[in-house]
Amino acid sequence: MLHIQDLHAWYGEAHVLQGVNLQVRQGELVCLVGRNGAGKTTTVKSVAGLMTKVKGSITFDGQEILGLPAHARYARGLAYVPEERRIVPGLTVRENIRLGLLRSPLHAREAEIIDEIADTFPRLKERLDQQAVTMSGGEQQMLTIARAMAAKPKFVLLDEPSEGIMPLLVDEMFEYFTALKKSGVTILLIEQNVELALRIADRAYILDQGEVVYANDAAAMLADASIQERYCAV
Ligand code: ATP
Repeated sequence: MLHIQDLHAWYGEAHVLQGVNLQVRQGELVCLVGRNGAGKTTTVKSVAGLMTKVKGSITFDGQEILGLPAHARYARGLAYVPEERRIVPGLTVRENIRLGLLRSPLHAREAEIIDEIADTFPRLKERLDQQAVTMSGGEQQMLTIARAMAAKPKFVLLDEPSEGIMPLLVDEMFEYFTALKKSGVTILLIEQNVELALRIADRAYILDQGEVVYANDAAAMLADASIQERYCAV
């Protein structure tokens, strides 16, 4: 479904991705791990259309998307949940979710979709009319995920969703990812908590210095402590 081939990316003169090759098949949950600065965020930003200097090929559903603007990729069903939470201040939880539907053909079914989201995320259901910024960090992160999922994307890029969140909420979030995968959504997940991610993933890639240095089934990688120590220690 997603094929990244020989992807290079630069920030100014800094050549940070040096030929990344990675694939995610339809229905898979694939985990992308590696040390800080390895290039994980840059890889998913390149897929989402947020890097200005890139070279190589990224196909989604068989079509080249590298030259497309971010909104056109989103319209094809490719959603991106960035590492930093982007809650809109001054808006309630419900209004933040609505933003995820603004440009979507599902806009007309807004009330029904918000009900569905509320059933999926009980923490948000209790707080729909609360100012979003008054929620805890973890709840705000749930909201950014819920907002990205409102338009029912086929594929979601998740950049360190569990960062800075209390363990109870992390467990809830990971249960949600498992349910999302079961519902047919394809997922590429960046995660610092490698063990947790490998438990729910089908396959994993390790990035190091802008290149894929290892790829395997998640179960095989989970069983190999040496590979995790070598490439994933912060
Ligand atoms: P982290 O876990 O710390 O987010 P990462 O694997 O996601 O790490 P990237 O954020 O993709 O790594 O960063 C890859 C390289 O690009 C790093 O050397 C980083 O310093 C550099 N970099 C990232 N963002 C920028 C930027 N906006 N301008 C210049 N260099 C950047």
